Amino acid sequence: MGDLKIQSAINWCMSAFVFLLIIMGVATVSGVRIVDQKIEALEGKWLNGTQLLGAISSAVSEFRMAEVSRALAPDRDSRVEAQQRIMESTIRVRDLLDEYSYMLNSEKPNEEVHAFLVAFHEYRRANRQWVVADFAGEDDGPAQDGSELHALYIDTKIAVDRLVRENHELAGKDARGADEISDIILISVGIISLAIGLLATGLLVFVQRRVTGPLGEMTSALARLASGDRSAGVPAIDRHDEIGVLARAFGVFSANAAALELAHQAVVEAQRAAEELARHDALTGLPNRRTFSAALTSAIGDPDGTDTGSYVLLIDLDRFKPVNDTYGHAAGDQVLCEVSRRLLRLAGPDDMVARLGGDEFAILCRPGSRSDILETAKGFAEQIIASSRTPISVGDIAVEIGASVGIALCSTDGADADEVLRAADVAMYRAKQGGRNTYRNFEPLMDEERKTRAKLEEDVRAGLLSGAIEPYYQPLLDLRSGHIKGFEILARWNDEARGSVSPDLFIPVIEQLGLADELATRMLSRACQDTRDWDVELSLNISPLQLQDPFLPTRILAVLTRENFPPSRLEIEVTETALMGDVDRARHVLSEFRGLGISVALDDFGTGYSSLNHLRELKFDRLKIDRSFIMTMADNPESEKIVDAVLGLAESLGIAVVAEGIENEVARAKLAGRGCEFGQGYLFSRPVPADQARVLVESDARKTGRSQARVAKLSR
Ligand code: C2E
Ligand code: MG
Ligand code: MG
Repeated sequence: MGDLKIQSAINWCMSAFVFLLIIMGVATVSGVRIVDQKIEALEGKWLNGTQLLGAISSAVSEFRMAEVSRALAPDRDSRVEAQQRIMESTIRVRDLLDEYSYMLNSEKPNEEVHAFLVAFHEYRRANRQWVVADFAGEDDGPAQDGSELHALYIDTKIAVDRLVRENHELAGKDARGADEISDIILISVGIISLAIGLLATGLLVFVQRRVTGPLGEMTSALARLASGDRSAGVPAIDRHDEIGVLARAFGVFSANAAALELAHQAVVEAQRAAEELARHDALTGLPNRRTFSAALTSAIGDPDGTDTGSYVLLIDLDRFKPVNDTYGHAAGDQVLCEVSRRLLRLAGPDDMVARLGGDEFAILCRPGSRSDILETAKGFAEQIIASSRTPISVGDIAVEIGASVGIALCSTDGADADEVLRAADVAMYRAKQGGRNTYRNFEPLMDEERKTRAKLEEDVRAGLLSGAIEPYYQPLLDLRSGHIKGFEILARWNDEARGSVSPDLFIPVIEQLGLADELATRMLSRACQDTRDWDVELSLNISPLQLQDPFLPTRILAVLTRENFPPSRLEIEVTETALMGDVDRARHVLSEFRGLGISVALDDFGTGYSSLNHLRELKFDRLKIDRSFIMTMADNPESEKIVDAVLGLAESLGIAVVAEGIENEVARAKLAGRGCEFGQGYLFSRPVPADQARVLVESDARKTGRSQARVAKLSR
């Protein structure tokens, strides 16, 4: 905080102001008192003087009266008495004159008093002469004719009158003096008042210029700042007092407010971006599933939405996965972006196009009219399918995909967003089953399927976790010796309500539920426990998706370690479909398995698209010819040729072959004759539970004359 200069300046002005006020008060009171006293004194003096002069005049008249009385006195006593009165009058005149002179406050009698004294002296001297003459008996004394004495008396009276006049003049003079003092006091009071006024005005101007003015500016700048005007500022105040400090503080505050606002804007922006990210798909910028679901909910909740016939199109791209796998994810991303652009072009202004995930898109359509809503939806679905079939350029390549579309109407196909979306999903799967590049609208019957499917999912999950889904074992035989070489682990589900459910039905459900790993580890774990003491190998089927998981070998090894089962006794079976994904990843996983001592077989060979290159590159230990070829070999020469070709190919690559689906002796003999090493099929055994498999192993041991110790071990 700087020095308090304004405050001290104001304090100083206020002190001066108070001081002047006190001076003015004292001056006014004293002046009034002085004038009062003066007037009082003047009034007293003037009255006293007038009275004294009146008394002198009376005494002079008395003197003359006594003089006349003496002159007319009939006897001596009367004369003496008159003479006595003359004497008394004389004394009285003198006393009064002394008093008057004293009143005049002059040491020496002034001119008029002197003139009176001279006149009175002359009159008295003449009177004394007349008295002396009278005593001497001179009858014709001056008193008798009286003319001289009378003249002197008149002179004396004139002198008294002069004194009276002079007294008047002196009183007037004193009155003028009092007036002057009063004027001086008034002028002084006026001057002091003026000074106070000027000081007060100066103080006001000072306060206005130095304090209230800048404060007002700062207040309005602060008000503008508060109302969001960031340009608001105070003029640069180069002062070193409180206002200067305040102005600089305002500058700092304003800068801080601007910085704060910037920070706030950044936070709001980040929040907006985060919200945007949470509501939109990062790749295509389209609304995501969450946003779509919310929009669908409001369309269903809004009476206008259902009245105007809103509907949902669920679009799943066909043949997108191979694009991703063949050309890489960057190409896949380009395809998805182009699809989103095409959908946006086709959609109406009120429609919402969203990406629900992967290659799945959805459009919430609000056509604005309810008439022929299903026809409108079908027409739109056809447009989408046509548009999706137009090749998409990715670099130099023209990629061809397609779309399967499911239609669900908001008004009839679901009570809420989830139900409508699920209905569209069910319809879309129907379209996929219907041969792709087509659409289906949801029908109530599909709903039954949907419910059945949901129940199946629920039961499959429960069956897997409860152990109702268990491993069965189908033997793999050495076709030349007829020995059991190993067992393929095949999952079986004997559901209380459904009975025996085919793996072709429940395994895809398990895969879709993301439980393939759970299935593999549970089956393997049980199989290890069941067959640990048997001198056989085990084959475990792996779902295609699992082959993309780099941690799969580690998890399998963990099960083997836990169950104390040697990895060399395990074989992993992968289907050709598993090689459709990321081949590099698959190669990595397979070599990991081999590194652990686990061998790898290519299952169902001939049904998929695996190239010869795959066979060479991925180094399979065994190749399993699909049962469809073996089972049709007898009737179909083509199948036989294919089997021959596969056997030749495997031999040249040094890969052992297993023939699946050997159902009869003819097939066995044929295959054995053509050098096929291993076989599997109903001819030898169907997949059986562990206890039956044990019987097979025991009988195999006895039949083939294996060591007694081994049979004994198995029999325990
Ligand atoms: P797969 O791996 O090719 O298994 C062989 C299938 O052929 C088995 O069908 C088996 O019962 C059947 N089979 C064997 N010999 C014959 C025969 O002589 N004639 C006929 N008609 N069929 C024969 P299953 O058990 O129904 O299994 C079907 C498929 O389900 C399996 O084909 C396999 O891909 C899959 N699967 C079975 N268990 C599991 C499992 O635990 N995990 C995984 N991921 N897939 C499994
Ligand atoms: Mg298999
Ligand atoms: Mg097979």
